[in-house]
Amino acid sequence: MGKIHELTNVLADQIAAGEVIERPASIVKELVENSLDANSKRIDIIVENSGLDSIRVIDDGSGIADDDVEIAFKRHATSKITTRRDLFKVRTMGFRGEALPSIASVADVTLTTATPGSTTGSLIHIHGGELVDLKPGPARQGTDVVVRELFFNTPARLKYLKSPQTELARITDIVNRLALANPQVAFSLTHNNKELFRTAGNDNLQQVVAAIYGIQVGKKMLPFAGEDNDFKISGLVSLPELTRASRQYITITINHRYIRNFELTKAIINGYESKLMVGRYPIAVLNIQLDPVLVDVNVHPAKREVRLSKEPQLAGLIAKVIRQRISTENLIPDVDAKQ
Ligand code: ADP
Ligand code: MG
Repeated sequence: MGKIHELTNVLADQIAAGEVIERPASIVKELVENSLDANSKRIDIIVENSGLDSIRVIDDGSGIADDDVEIAFKRHATSKITTRRDLFKVRTMGFRGEALPSIASVADVTLTTATPGSTTGSLIHIHGGELVDLKPGPARQGTDVVVRELFFNTPARLKYLKSPQTELARITDIVNRLALANPQVAFSLTHNNKELFRTAGNDNLQQVVAAIYGIQVGKKMLPFAGEDNDFKISGLVSLPELTRASRQYITITINHRYIRNFELTKAIINGYESKLMVGRYPIAVLNIQLDPVLVDVNVHPAKREVRLSKEPQLAGLIAKVIRQRISTENLIPDVDAKQ
């Protein structure tokens, strides 16, 4: 008798969850990205006890058809790509088909969903990867996911979590970034019955910045835009007088995906030339539009790091456009007076 055997599905899902679902904020990110992929106009995030007691994401998107509800929780099951060629032109946030099975393998999940115009919806309840219930649900259009008992069956993960304040700060941070990347969507974040922030979803980036960083900051942000043959960039940068002690206040998105990239962050800072004091950084939102063939998002399961072709060219464009914007602004000192 050989010693090698295949892992059970639940165990395989738990192992996959180790990569994608590190903490409550990872669940918020995955659920909200699913809502964005479903073309939601409104996404409400409701969290209890920093996500340890419950995380709920309600959207008004396309919903999941009855026949698809169970399969949505199978590993590598996705509606977003089909062939290898699709992988090189992904415009959706997801495509790996891992989030729902991973979350359900380490928590208690109840999902209700209905597609537009249907007279009934579905409800599915999964506990630690085991199906508990699947039945007709309310016909409210969109999807409503409730995640409870996070990491109940993976005690090491639970122990590794930081303080509730830190976990909440991570949730707030990811929701803020997703809202900055998607000013066309109305977001709200509520913690222990207290609304932490809300955006209008009217595609006004300056208002989203104001909702997150405060009205005074919102007023001191300069819009910029530029393009070359491959890239289209736009966003907001703070006046050189408005700085912070860390790079954390810089948000970069590619085709609405929030990413982290050292070279592009440096390019933004370079655009300020010598106008920033040592150790000070601007507040900025940089949105980049490009043909998806120029970016490989399949580098890391959480997709925060991406591989970009023509990165030096893009960095050059960013630095140039921001440099021009900052230097022309210096000729007109009073920004408030222009509005
Ligand atoms: P992926 O997003 O990589 O496809 P997920 O495990 O996150 O994988 O989701 C599996 C599938 O379930 C998605 O491809 C999508 O069809 C469906 N789905 C998940 N969440 C939603 C939602 N909020 N609205 C509509 N469909 C959803
Ligand atoms: Mg997903």
